[in-house]
Amino acid sequence: MPVTASYPSASPTTMPIDPERIERILELTDRPSSDEVHAVLEAALELQGLSPEQAAVLLLADPSDEGAIFRAAGEAKDRIYGNRIVLFAPLYVSNVCSNNCLYCSFRRDNREIQRRVLSLEEIADQVRILEDMGHRRLLLEAGEVPHAEQLDFILEAIETIYATRTETGSIRRVNVNIAATTVEAYARLKAAGIGTYQLFQESYHRPTYERMHPYGPKRDYRYHLTAMDRAMRAGIDDVGLGVLFGLYDYRFEVLALLCHAEYLELEYGVGPHTLSVPRFRPADGVDFEPPYPVTDAEFKRIVAVLRLAVPYTGIILSTRESAELRNELISLGVSQMSAGSATQPGGYRRGAPAGEQFHKADERSLDEVVRDICKLGYLPSFCTACYRSGRTGERFMHLAKPGDIQKLCRPNAVATFEEYLQDYASPETRAEGERLVAHQLDLIEQDTVRTSTERMLERVRSGERDLYV
Ligand code: SAM
Ligand code: SF4
Repeated sequence: MPVTASYPSASPTTMPIDPERIERILELTDRPSSDEVHAVLEAALELQGLSPEQAAVLLLADPSDEGAIFRAAGEAKDRIYGNRIVLFAPLYVSNVCSNNCLYCSFRRDNREIQRRVLSLEEIADQVRILEDMGHRRLLLEAGEVPHAEQLDFILEAIETIYATRTETGSIRRVNVNIAATTVEAYARLKAAGIGTYQLFQESYHRPTYERMHPYGPKRDYRYHLTAMDRAMRAGIDDVGLGVLFGLYDYRFEVLALLCHAEYLELEYGVGPHTLSVPRFRPADGVDFEPPYPVTDAEFKRIVAVLRLAVPYTGIILSTRESAELRNELISLGVSQMSAGSATQPGGYRRGAPAGEQFHKADERSLDEVVRDICKLGYLPSFCTACYRSGRTGERFMHLAKPGDIQKLCRPNAVATFEEYLQDYASPETRAEGERLVAHQLDLIEQDTVRTSTERMLERVRSGERDLYV
């Protein structure tokens, strides 16, 4: 579909990243001294973000400084968002794809998986299962098919998701992760009521990107890299960036991600709403060995550095990581997690044919994830309030940057978590959760906020639903 004249130019004047700048930073930073690391940490705790140059100091710091970096990351996350962890589930609606990304099971040449495009009835069925688990926000995912077909299908899928309700359940926010597209298509996604539009660059390193994407529409590095420009120009102000770790040197990728974030902020006045950190996982019919595997220790460093460099941005962790590592990463700055996920179309119904995008590393149910989060002293949240109150893009950042967002986050997290405890939790999780809720009330410093949260809680306990501030 052509870009219509009613939208501003879809072609940015400068490119989102300059690879030479990144190479230069990496060359100049070398192994920084402990003093340099501590100076950057001090700056980071002012919560105004870090330049890619400063972030490089933390990324390349000696392992002996790691403890200090981790502590600072945990503190930054707590001061901005408090201790809530937002939960969601992916909803794969199709694994048919015209690309051939070497790492992905959905790639066109893979003959080992069964292909499936869900009908709208099947999508509604999946949504009811997710609602009965207690989910309130979904991430819609699909392979890429030719443009016109794809968009209509995705728009119908979104409409179906919002319209599908059970007695106690509804999906209140649909985020979308689909192929790069045109300004006009993004405008239609925005009009359909999407939350965040996510697209992972996979690799910012152009030669690697081109090797990983041998053909199909996704092969065009520039078109992929400028997707968020088109999304922003179409009025989508919550966008999510990401890198697939394992394809290229993680130091380059992290700095490129930060340059991209910096660019969006300068160009559009608002940085990314979220960053995702997928790490390569084995998958059926994929004999790809990641050329730059990232160890768990490196992965923890990546999460902590991102938290300090863009403190107001959500960091999303998926079931690509094990339960053990996910539990650890909560204290290093992760703010959103998928839970109880299936990564194949139809996967939430038992007996669905195989055809996963990748093999998960965390097989816990949503209830088990919720219970573990409570045991760690964090607050599971099913909140979707900001998006529904119009607190997106710049308005969200104005609240997030000075740390004001947690005055809203905690009451909303408590109210939505109590809904979960009342309607869906197992007895064990409910007992654990109620202890946590009581403790959360004690943590609210302002009397007015505490009283209004207590009131919301009472209303939820007496049967009201979907309360938020
Ligand atoms: N097809 C769209 C695209 O590629 O942009 C939508 C996203 S795809 C369904 C979701 C993401 O999964 C991809 O962007 C990629 O980063 C990630 N992914 C693909 N294969 C993977 C694998 N084997 N392990 C981990 N993540 C993978
Ligand atoms: Fe298709 Fe996306 Fe998988 Fe690439 S990553 S093969 S575009 S589904």
